Amino acid sequence: LICPKELALLTGKRKIGIMGGTFDPIHIGHLVTAEAVRIEYDLERVLFIPAGHPPHKQGAVVTSPLHRYIMTIMATCSNPSFTVSSMEIERPGPSYTIDTIRTLVEQYGGQTELFFITGADATGDLPTWNNIEDLLDLCHFVGATRPGCISMIDSVIQQFGTKGRQRIHRLTTPELEISSTDIRERVRKGRSIKYIVPEAVEQYIIREGLYRA
Ligand code: NAP
Repeated sequence: LICPKELALLTGKRKIGIMGGTFDPIHIGHLVTAEAVRIEYDLERVLFIPAGHPPHKQGAVVTSPLHRYIMTIMATCSNPSFTVSSMEIERPGPSYTIDTIRTLVEQYGGQTELFFITGADATGDLPTWNNIEDLLDLCHFVGATRPGCISMIDSVIQQFGTKGRQRIHRLTTPELEISSTDIRERVRKGRSIKYIVPEAVEQYIIREGLYRA
């Protein structure tokens, strides 16, 4: 089995990371994870794509896509290797990852390898995602997990057999102890979120009165 880094060296393909998430709000854990994956897999850059209408959160209260998009831009703008795309926010209907990846494959062409980066829980649910077999043909998945939570990803890798071993990877990031749910809870209770989110994001949350109710 050849690891993705060696494979890309052999094939000479460009490698782009796609950071998919609801980002409600984006936090330091997401940023540290994206940078760690960029370095580990030697990615040219990481494209953050806030989910417009997360398919698995229908009926749940999610902050407006525009707020999440603006906070993602604020959080990433100081890193020249990070960019943000509004494609899922602009696309009507549920933000299925297969639609996003098909669009990116068309844009970048066959000479680019895509690495979809997301959390361990989301990676654990991969078998339920739309067109998952096609997705695994089109991109790699990197499941970012906090230490001690790797078994969920490993069982999904096993479930997909050879394709799983070739296309699904995991990376441990201690900073993922931070969670968006915890941040929303802190704001609701009037507790500090300083240093858990970038300062501009903290100021934006205060200014716009997000997560108070
Ligand atoms: P989620 O269920 O809210 O998150 C699950 C866990 O993963 C949470 O602990 C979350 O922490 C963490 N997480 C989420 N995105 C992450 C990232 N990029 N890096 C590191 N940790 C991350 O998942 P979600 O954010 O709504 O969805 C993740 C991505 O999967 C989105 O792009 C979504 O559209 C896609 N997705 C697609 C399908 C489909 O196509 N059928 C189904 C499900 C998900 P935080 O709460 O702190 O972020």
